[in-house]
Amino acid sequence: MSEGNVVRFDIEDGVGVITIDNPPVNALGPGVREGIIEFVEKGNADPNVNAMVLIGAGRSFIAGADIRQFGKPRPQPPRRSTDVLEDSAKPVVAAIHGYALGGGLEHALSCNYRVAVRSAKVGLPEVLIGVLPGGGGTQRLPRLIGPKAAMEMIVSGRHVPAEEAKKLGIIDEIVDEKDLRGAAIRFAKSVASKRPLPRVREKTDRLAEAKSDPGMFDAMKKSIARKARNQKAPYHCIACVEAAVTQPFEEGLQTERRLFAELENSDEAKALRYAFFAEREVAKIPGAPKDLKPPRVKTAAVIGAGTMGGGIAMCFADFGIPVKVLEVSRDALEKGMQRVRENYAVSVKRGSITQTQMDERLPRIRPVERYEDIADCDAVIEAVFERIDVKKDVFAKLDAVMKPGALLLTNSSAIDTDIMAGVTRRPQDVGGAHFFAPANVMKLLEVVRGTNTSIETIAATMQIGRDIGKIGAVAGTCDGFAANRSRAPLVTEAMLMLEEGALPEQIDKVMVDFGYPMGPFAVSDLSGLDVSYDTRKRRAAADPNFRKLHVPDRLVEMGRKGQKTGAGWYRYEKGDRTPHPDEVVKSVIAEVGRELGIPQRTFTDEEILRRLLLASVNEACKILEEGKAYRASDLDVMWLHGFGFPRYRGGLMFWADTVGSKEILRQVEEWHARYGDRWRPAKLLREIAASGGSFREAKSAGTTG
Ligand code: NAD
Repeated sequence: MSEGNVVRFDIEDGVGVITIDNPPVNALGPGVREGIIEFVEKGNADPNVNAMVLIGAGRSFIAGADIRQFGKPRPQPPRRSTDVLEDSAKPVVAAIHGYALGGGLEHALSCNYRVAVRSAKVGLPEVLIGVLPGGGGTQRLPRLIGPKAAMEMIVSGRHVPAEEAKKLGIIDEIVDEKDLRGAAIRFAKSVASKRPLPRVREKTDRLAEAKSDPGMFDAMKKSIARKARNQKAPYHCIACVEAAVTQPFEEGLQTERRLFAELENSDEAKALRYAFFAEREVAKIPGAPKDLKPPRVKTAAVIGAGTMGGGIAMCFADFGIPVKVLEVSRDALEKGMQRVRENYAVSVKRGSITQTQMDERLPRIRPVERYEDIADCDAVIEAVFERIDVKKDVFAKLDAVMKPGALLLTNSSAIDTDIMAGVTRRPQDVGGAHFFAPANVMKLLEVVRGTNTSIETIAATMQIGRDIGKIGAVAGTCDGFAANRSRAPLVTEAMLMLEEGALPEQIDKVMVDFGYPMGPFAVSDLSGLDVSYDTRKRRAAADPNFRKLHVPDRLVEMGRKGQKTGAGWYRYEKGDRTPHPDEVVKSVIAEVGRELGIPQRTFTDEEILRRLLLASVNEACKILEEGKAYRASDLDVMWLHGFGFPRYRGGLMFWADTVGSKEILRQVEEWHARYGDRWRPAKLLREIAASGGSFREAKSAGTTG
């Protein structure tokens, strides 16, 4: 028996069945590889065994390597289990259900045959954690399915469904979903005496395609250039597949090992591993009872069918949850529904969903006209205008009609949820479910905990997130909550730098070069300059020291509200979303600088990057200090999934650690002296700098809400 019995062996009908049993997902943890080696040898030595099956117990074949082992020294086994499998003198059949990913698929590729159930998925997703398939995957897959298809799979890291995998040539046979073991044993018996044994490493026919198309590797590099900028792993993946074509198998394996070793401790791999674990941590709610099982929302309602409300309704419909939509007027309702229909139609046209899917989803969204019609829904999400009076009115109505225990949630971007809770008699059921635009695309769901929101409401809202494919992150209530509040200083600094002589296109370029899909000004044009204009007006009314942002205010007052008006920070041609720098904006900027008497100067890219990100790091420290987020890593998850922060840089706080706390404090103090109170260093920043601690491990002392 292998270590901890994670692999077992039994013989049925002349077939040795090697079963991996390492819950929850049969990762290649300690003892698994050793167990495979032990039992392949046992099967070969046993005259009663004619063939073997490699199968996983529980819900998966082998879901991959144990990521926790990456980046740490590991003993190199004298022999690799993949080699032992491929060297077997008796045929071995991989029997796949659930997932065969990474090391899992590499083991399957080392078997002589592969059968799978229809629901299984295979893939080599290592690139997504900044490395490459290091167990022969980059050498075997191209030999099996051709370099082009292999490269596409390895560079994208995508999960390939069994049917497609069969078409590609990865899977030999799709078998009965309910009897994988029986079907695999029958398959093994049918090939038991077939010789020679098919071995992937010996296949050469599919490599020929690269010889007739030698430009394919350069073409692939070109096609990923934008998405893969600043990263090494995707390019190393391509280099490995190229090695599969140009080098003999053993040499190719050496290349793969060498390039894997280069990546394993690279900054990008560390950042991506960190992001992977941060996404698991964010689901944990400190203080929640262990046995807390939130009820599942079976019916939902959305108030307001505007930009956000329509998108939120689609989120529910996309995941099979019926949702009712309520508006101020029949006209507004019809407009909102029309936009939903158009959005679905565009998805069908693009091929991201089928017409059948659209026909299933659309009827799940039901327009209604009275509050009584939504009274029996399990959860309501309010997405009306960002105005306190309107929101209060809606919550008072909800309180009057909704069944007891219904979740009353607001999608407000910034308004303290306590204000809405205050007009109800059930503040424990009121909280925030803050989606990010476009709501049906962005993964983040910021779950806002008001002063009186119950832990059950928070847990149930987090569960909604999981049920509709989002990543939930808890924030405490305050103006802007955790995500937008931590990003706001970045936006403010971007606009204030304009007054000193920087240009939107220059700032945007720095951020795109850093890895964002778009710069802050292009984003502002997309979401509309008027949204933040209204928020600024609200804040200015409440705070006499509020720093007016002259440039954007002036643009909005000129009617330049972004893409929707054809002009904002940039100018747009009709029907085209390409931003063009605009002389009008340049002259507004120059005019504001002159009027305020601010000396004009030039900025280096480094200064721009630091000005933007350090303003937010400082604010993030204040947010943690005040207990408005549980962990720094939660803020990183918010930045990754709400704002498009480059994943291979881990997140805002992970990035801050790469700069260093002492250097950040020095810089923040310098700008505090030059620009005043908005740069006041956070207490937590001082503490981290003094103790030499890390930003990414910072946690809030208190609870949020
Ligand atoms: P929007 O103006 O596009 O839509 C608001 C909708 O609410 C309109 O269709 C309006 O008719 C309807 N409405 C107004 N008062 C109503 C009432 N009393 N009852 C029913 N319906 C009513 O606005 P939006 O961009 O969808 O924003 C909605 C909310 O989402 C705001 O609180 C906003 O802060 C928040 N939000 C917006 C974004 C964004 O990027 N636009 C992102 C996150 C959150």
